Amino acid sequence: MQYLTVLGATGSIGENTLDVVARHPDRFRVFALSGHSQLDKLARQCGQFKPNYAVVADRESAALLSGKLRSLSLATEVVFGQQALCDLAAAPEVDMVMAAIVGAVGLRPTLAAAQAGKKVLLANKESLVMAGGLFMDAVRSAQATLLPIDSEHNAIFQCLPTTYGPGQRGGVRRVLLTASGGPFLSVPLDSLAAMTPDQACAHPNWQMGRKISVDSATMMNKGLELIEACWLFDLRPEEIEVVIHPQSVIHSMVEYVDGSILAQLGNPDMRTPIAHAMAWPERVVSGVASLDIIRTARLDFAAPDLQRFPCLQLAMEAARRGGSAPALLNAANEVAVAAFLGGRLPFTGIAEVVSAVLDRVEITEPDSLEAVQSCDQMARRSAEEVIVQLTGKG
Ligand code: NAD
Ligand code: MG
Repeated sequence: MQYLTVLGATGSIGENTLDVVARHPDRFRVFALSGHSQLDKLARQCGQFKPNYAVVADRESAALLSGKLRSLSLATEVVFGQQALCDLAAAPEVDMVMAAIVGAVGLRPTLAAAQAGKKVLLANKESLVMAGGLFMDAVRSAQATLLPIDSEHNAIFQCLPTTYGPGQRGGVRRVLLTASGGPFLSVPLDSLAAMTPDQACAHPNWQMGRKISVDSATMMNKGLELIEACWLFDLRPEEIEVVIHPQSVIHSMVEYVDGSILAQLGNPDMRTPIAHAMAWPERVVSGVASLDIIRTARLDFAAPDLQRFPCLQLAMEAARRGGSAPALLNAANEVAVAAFLGGRLPFTGIAEVVSAVLDRVEITEPDSLEAVQSCDQMARRSAEEVIVQLTGKG
């Protein structure tokens, strides 16, 4: 029996994780669930999975959730705050941690799981983008097992040879990172500025949380994924090519020196990478239907248009620059996306904010978690200033 903590259980990845868990009560048991604002959903999840602990943001939410759990006669203990998230990610009873909190707030608990040597199922790509060096050092020194949940990285992981590792390339030449291109792949360029949050979140192939949906519309998501792939697979940015593939059937590819390209295909459903990582190195049923390859019929590919997707260009530059640049990019993007979702910034303002922050904030070489977090804070303050200057709205 594998005991699991799900950080961000109430989100899209969290719910898909629990769907896989429910299919395998003989293999997986939930130790702790975390949620932020959706307390009713978290209470329902506690009712179904009977975790030992539930984690929420603050004392007030904890009191509310405790009341709901008491009325269901549940013994789940309710705790709150960042430290509780870290403690439950690192608890000795836990075998596996699904890191599915969105954004920079996911860094500390995800790092805590790595430092405790857990099997870390990484959905929270922002952790690696912000603090890839520190994170990978923690994985190595605690001998944690890091398995990617991001569908592209999970696909790459599946296509890499078993001989791939530090100092051993196993014949890999490069990686082809596929991208759907999101909902705005072919809208006229001059209409982008007027796109609304609901339009940006209407992804053609994937059902996801709102932040990553906006990142997919700007293609910042692919830029973050490029940085994520560099850390996970010890690649240089030049060894990764971003390829637009609108059908999202191929989830990414690995090219070998002999000219072979291996791809992982499937329906766009996150339960495939989740089940793959949870059961690895075995395979279990995920609930995902067979891919109908006949109906799929066509697989299209194109190069990304960097004029349409300036966020991808900015992320590629940050990847090449290294140091604190990816952390600054990530923080500025989080602030800009929140402003866009809140109606304070037009869609095209997201790239303008990120670009301005990267110009204004000095790029350093952070060597501790505190240094990374101070870069993150500096970029957030700068992004807020830029938004006020661009829009006149505080
Ligand atoms: P979501 O918005 O649906 O869920 C986010 C989760 O984080 C929720 O459980 C929420 O309660 C929690 N959360 C939000 N703010 C928090 C805070 N301040 N403190 C503690 N918890 C907080 O997001 P999602 O789509 O499930 O994405 C989660 C992560 O997985 C992101 O990093 C995203 O990039 C990554 N990811 C998602 C998908 C996908 O298909 N959804 C695919 C690849 C990677
Ligand atoms: Mg992805």
